[in-house]
Amino acid sequence: MLVDRIGNTPLVRLRHILDGVVPPEVEIWAKLEWFNPGGSVKDRAAWAMIRDAESSGRLLPGMRLLDSSSGNTGIAYGMIAAARGHALTLCLPANANRERKKILRAFGVEVIETDPLEGSDGAIRRARELVAEHPDLYLYLDQYSNAANWRAHYETTAPEIWRDTGGRVTHWVSALGTTGTFTGTSRRLKEYDPRILCVSVQPDSPFHGLEGLKHLESAIVPAIYDASLADADLGAPTEASILLMRRLAREEGMLVGVSSGAALWGAIEVARQLDRGVVVTLFPDSGERYLSEEHLWP
Ligand code: PMP
Repeated sequence: MLVDRIGNTPLVRLRHILDGVVPPEVEIWAKLEWFNPGGSVKDRAAWAMIRDAESSGRLLPGMRLLDSSSGNTGIAYGMIAAARGHALTLCLPANANRERKKILRAFGVEVIETDPLEGSDGAIRRARELVAEHPDLYLYLDQYSNAANWRAHYETTAPEIWRDTGGRVTHWVSALGTTGTFTGTSRRLKEYDPRILCVSVQPDSPFHGLEGLKHLESAIVPAIYDASLADADLGAPTEASILLMRRLAREEGMLVGVSSGAALWGAIEVARQLDRGVVVTLFPDSGERYLSEEHLWP
């Protein structure tokens, strides 16, 4: 089945981009999540949440799956809902880029566009209103509060990192959106070895260009977020993240999205302080999802 191909993404060591920046005994490895069938890390969480809805018995005939998303989760839901035969409604900020809207349409998703000025919080509020108005029609997946989101990473992402580093991982650096990736992976890695340091990365200001990421101080904080797992929390600047994103394409052959640039920015900040270590980060999606955004690729 298509969904069986979710996960087990490659873990690849970065080389040229670290020359002269990070001590030679410090390794940085990245998990390449665009290898998932839906093209992003969100396949893991979306599949876990839909599987959970299916097995809970709450998804009755005639009901629609509902959630809000700024893009990748929606695409992951769209792919999986089509494969599993479910109807799906998605609340999406109207300024989501053309690629995203086209992909959602291709999967047959009903898209409800929300005020771009309210960002992902506006989409969340609209989804909450819809389910309050029509509780018998919608099953609200609520990725920000759904434990299946972080559990997907507890059960798949972290064991893959542990296995693929042969238990050598010393640091885990991950950017925050719903926080599912960071929360689930950190929780499990600390069970494997409590000495593993977990570092979260979020935009350094409320007005940022790091799509997919949340500036938690100024946003609706996801219920699944567990700040106690973070040994440090770093604020990534948009410009520096975009520059690293561009360099990943030219120097490593990795065409990634801008949140991957932020994740790498955080990993380098951590790695520069070390004499030796194995730093693992995660690149959530591909740059192909942003090619219409001219400012990213001048
Ligand atoms: N980067 C991108 C491009 C994303 O779409 C997301 C998901 N919103 C993230 C990072 C963050 O992942 P998570 O929701 O697991 O925190």
